[in-house]
Amino acid sequence: MGRTKKVGIAGKYGPRYGFTLRRRAAEVEAKAKQWYECPNCKAKKLRRVGTAIWQCRRCGIKFAGRAYTPGERRK
Ligand SMILES: [Zn+2]
Repeated sequence: MGRTKKVGIAGKYGPRYGFTLRRRAAEVEAKAKQWYECPNCKAKKLRRVGTAIWQCRRCGIKFAGRAYTPGERRK
């Protein structure tokens, strides 16, 4: 009792998530901030503008995709 657990670099995700989840969230967020190829004009100008909302800065197309990536793209 009385022992305070230091949270350290928990950051904005807070202590309620485990380390793995926090790391995954950071990875997902990094993904979400990347530029993706536009399915319409093929320019790498596709950006997430909201949850699951993607917009191309070149041709202006806007569509709903997945939450953190524009859609299914298998390598
Ligand atoms: Zn486009």
